Amino acid sequence: MKIVELAPNAPLSLQNDGALEVFFLGVGSLFSTRHFQTNFLLIKGNDHVLIDFGNTGPTALRSTTRLEPSAIEVVLPSHSHDDHIGGLGHLALYNRYVGIPFEQRPQLRLVATEEYATILWERSLRGNLEWNEVSPEGRPLTLADFFDIHHPQHHVGARDRWTIDIGSIHLELFRTLHIPQQAASIAEAFPTYGVCVDDRAFFSCDTRFDPELLELYEGRGIEWYFHDVQFFPGAVHAPLEDLRTLPESIRRKMLLTHYADTWQEHDVSDFAGWANQGLRYCFE
Ligand SMILES: [Zn+2]
Repeated sequence: MKIVELAPNAPLSLQNDGALEVFFLGVGSLFSTRHFQTNFLLIKGNDHVLIDFGNTGPTALRSTTRLEPSAIEVVLPSHSHDDHIGGLGHLALYNRYVGIPFEQRPQLRLVATEEYATILWERSLRGNLEWNEVSPEGRPLTLADFFDIHHPQHHVGARDRWTIDIGSIHLELFRTLHIPQQAASIAEAFPTYGVCVDDRAFFSCDTRFDPELLELYEGRGIEWYFHDVQFFPGAVHAPLEDLRTLPESIRRKMLLTHYADTWQEHDVSDFAGWANQGLRYCFE
């Protein structure tokens, strides 16, 4: 993987030569003050997908990519924590009301399972977005007024998967075991998702330590893992000390994300290292 800096004062291009590229708007945790929250762009050829847009997202997008929110065409929220969806209202309202008339721009595409699209609207976005106007038919707005909603296809299995192609980008969603802390299994947990891209890149988004999941994807030839980390035991992310117990074959391909402000106090030389915000990670 080639790591490329942005040219000074040039915006990030959402098009490239066709190789998968990952760009982190941020690599911090929900509480980070030294990084933006862990939200990232996938770019490949003429296609792109923004995975997560937290409450630092609007500032992070402009700061790290020099792009306006209207540049984003596809968004995939992994789950309903503020550092993953806190900027979605901004994105939706910007797309509808700022700049060129709404009717003249392509509607923002939202990738979400059927179950999660309902949760996202009913429990989070609706209070913010429903009553800004009424539709021509006289009803309040719905999720579908703001987004062109795309449901990935569900595949039932030992670990359920959901797949969808966004142009040339193949996305596979899987459930993660993130919240509540006490959930013993995915069946008991609130819906949260991680993402595998093109069978090459694995993004945990947010999960507790889940070695079976990593072994499953390792068997499929993942080239790089981007995994969330916390620096203490328990709670709802993967503790660094637990991640250290993974086979070296996985750790040497693992870049750590979603880290707290104290990251420099921790030696991660037994991993590929920290993921950094504002750099282009280009697959070869
Ligand atoms: Zn979370």
